[in-house]
Amino acid sequence: MDFVLRLWTGTCEHTRDRLSAHLEGALRGREAKRVLRHLARCPHCREALRSLARTVDGLGSLGRADALSPAQPSVAGAVVDRIHRPAGP
Ligand SMILES: [Zn+2]
Repeated sequence: MDFVLRLWTGTCEHTRDRLSAHLEGALRGREAKRVLRHLARCPHCREALRSLARTVDGLGSLGRADALSPAQPSVAGAVVDRIHRPAGP
């Protein structure tokens, strides 16, 4: 039963890999539905989504053009890139 449920809703790992794409509205069809089904059942992934959304919102104030450089087209990827970048020159 657990196995069937995982096929239907996806795992936490599967969902979290797709949260940034979900936030950007980049998921389509079955993938989008699977993520939504998982989020409906999993408070942990809902919290991860809220946290990611807050981070992306905060990033917006830093300048969207900078965050969405062609080399790093994903907003969440840009967040991670910025976190890993050393502060200062
Ligand atoms: Zn989950």
